[in-house]
Amino acid sequence: RDLHVHFKVADRRTRSFRNRTTMLRAVDGIDLVVARGESLGIVGESGCGKTTLARAVTGLLRPTSGQVVFDGVTLGGERDRAMRRRVQMVFQDPGSSLNPRLKVGSVLGELLRVHDVVPGSEVRARCEHLMDLVGLPADVLDATPGRLSGGQRQRIAIARALAVEPEVLIADEAVSALDVSVQAAVLELLIDLRDRLDLTLVFITHDLAVVRNVCDRIAVMYLGRIVETAPTETLFADPRHPYTQALLAAAPRLHDSGLAAEPALTGEPPSPLNIPPGCRFNTRCPRAVEVCQSMDPALERRGDQQVACHLAWS
Ligand code: SF4
Repeated sequence: RDLHVHFKVADRRTRSFRNRTTMLRAVDGIDLVVARGESLGIVGESGCGKTTLARAVTGLLRPTSGQVVFDGVTLGGERDRAMRRRVQMVFQDPGSSLNPRLKVGSVLGELLRVHDVVPGSEVRARCEHLMDLVGLPADVLDATPGRLSGGQRQRIAIARALAVEPEVLIADEAVSALDVSVQAAVLELLIDLRDRLDLTLVFITHDLAVVRNVCDRIAVMYLGRIVETAPTETLFADPRHPYTQALLAAAPRLHDSGLAAEPALTGEPPSPLNIPPGCRFNTRCPRAVEVCQSMDPALERRGDQQVACHLAWS
């Protein structure tokens, strides 16, 4: 609810926090609901604040203001172990999030013990069950991550997140570093796990193709804000925000709207250190009119679609 995560950044000229600081508004007023059992995709170019949003939701970062409400409970910066278990994250690069010297079985076993998931005598059996869940043979437990392929390491990262029996799994660019064929297999695994374990899934990605077949609903993010949310089919058939239209135009095989093709995105997004006044997309928007430079459009709902654009329905 109205979530903000701002960082103080030293002024480039002085490199000093004391003399002069600027605020980097990585997440800048986000209202977003994820329903139990839903698969939500959060899509946007790199640097738009997707990962910061996920870290604030999981408690890895403290929001500057706003609230994260989980199952009716407002979560503070300090979360107890039981609460931390309920929302888990899978990161992009499993190589860097797994200790290369520790055997997979030790990593998973330690987690199960620390969180008291099963009695000590059942740890090995639970580790084998986790391997089975993610489609790996039990002997992988005796290997170190360095001896595994990228796809296998990502399956281990998923098993590690599942070990504490979460209700929500946030996959942050979880397949971006994998080959296309491996990507498809890991996505299929995540969908299968969602259905078998009754998980709520949040997919964070820069790639609309990744979320199309996986997510029920998509939220499009630009420069720290959500600019459009819609059920996946609606978003692909009738995108209303010029930024969503441009993202789809950049991937023509995904575009089913039948609208005249919008020009693809040009230029880089402005820096979150210097967000333009008015609509934050106005410096790149092919439809911008005068009001866009002075008035920040609110997210407005029509049916099950929400769009933040003065011209969304005109
Ligand atoms: Fe473009 Fe204006 Fe809509 Fe912003 S409000 S997306 S600048 S038309």
